[in-house]
Amino acid sequence: MKLSIALAATFAAGASAFAPSTGRPAATSSNAAASSATALSAEGRQPIMAGNWKMNPATEDDALKLATDFSKLLGEEACAVSDFEGCTEVILFPPFPFISKVKDAVDEAGITVGAQGIFFEDKGAYTGSVAASMVKSVGCEYILCGHSERRALMGDDDVNINKKVKKVLESGMKPILCIGETKEEFDLDITKDICAMQLSKDLFGVTKEQMADVVIAYEPVWAIGTGLVCGANEANKMHRFIREKLAGMYDEEVAKATRIQYGGSVTPESVDALMSMPEIDGCLVGGASLEAVKFARICNFES
Ligand code: PEP
Repeated sequence: MKLSIALAATFAAGASAFAPSTGRPAATSSNAAASSATALSAEGRQPIMAGNWKMNPATEDDALKLATDFSKLLGEEACAVSDFEGCTEVILFPPFPFISKVKDAVDEAGITVGAQGIFFEDKGAYTGSVAASMVKSVGCEYILCGHSERRALMGDDDVNINKKVKKVLESGMKPILCIGETKEEFDLDITKDICAMQLSKDLFGVTKEQMADVVIAYEPVWAIGTGLVCGANEANKMHRFIREKLAGMYDEEVAKATRIQYGGSVTPESVDALMSMPEIDGCLVGGASLEAVKFARICNFES
């Protein structure tokens, strides 16, 4: 299956909330209509691939080179915007200082840019923090929330993550909410409990309507940056469990429409098996997104 990129991810439910901020046109009204008509079926969920650059690369020049190389590789496979059906939405998450220039470099190719985080307050004496309005003003559409590195190293707890998710949504952007169990929790066989708890706490107060803009990333912490990939069948089972939980928290419609990414050491070698699974709608990719060739192959997965 040839896949390409498209900015306007109107296959997700709630297409009306999509406001592409790159230079590419938004979906046409007929596309939007098709979107809502297919939103309830698994086939209707537009694939979504995201590259989390974390604290890389070292300089603006390096970031621009990576973005440009990646964009060129994808460009060869890109389909026309007006023909986005079957395309994959692609998002890059560069470090804050590089966002604007990376966006300029990849805009033409229809690649979306997001921020790796925000603080939930609007402004004020919060040295070192970045507000939602700031990243929105430089063109970010997506924000990572609840990434395990921030949970483990930066003190992000579920209360703060919930505030951030709600701030992102109130600001007209879309959170990618990362959840997943640690190795210890996996060994204790409490993976489902952990993920269910994170979903309940992190989405507390998020309405059914707002869920149209929420993407979930299931990322087993033991698989992040370790080279250990969760088996495709196992990941698929967890994604199904997450949908069941969403059905309980909201309803079947939300459960079926919500896009769920897998994250954890995804490579060109593992992506096809993962993406052939019915419950897996995309991948959140760290290490491999720092290599243009690898990430382009991941985005152009075959299934
Ligand atoms: C991540 O940063 O979310 C991630 C999954 O990283 P990696 O692909 O390197 O495991």
